[in-house]
Amino acid sequence: MAIDEKKTSAAETLRKTRSFGKVRCHNPSCMGRIQPAPGADHAKCPTCGMEYRLFWVNPTLPRIRGPVWDVNREIAKKTFAGKGGAATLKAESKGGK
Ligand SMILES: [Zn+2]
Repeated sequence: MAIDEKKTSAAETLRKTRSFGKVRCHNPSCMGRIQPAPGADHAKCPTCGMEYRLFWVNPTLPRIRGPVWDVNREIAKKTFAGKGGAATLKAESKGGK
């Protein structure tokens, strides 16, 4: 009985500290922490600039619903441009004209 009580409170504490008001960036090369404004439906990662749509599990617990494609596509384009045109060319020839 006593053990069960301890387990529950430990889990509750952990859950609170871990996810209070923060989400983790879905960009695999970033994984930064994003702290959105309370109730915001969008959040921008301060580390890599990716933007995400949010929903709120409860007033203090945001979750990422999905990326904002327009913004992220721009970032991807810039990344490709920085790396040189090779990747873009490959993708085009794969498209099979
Ligand atoms: Zn990020």
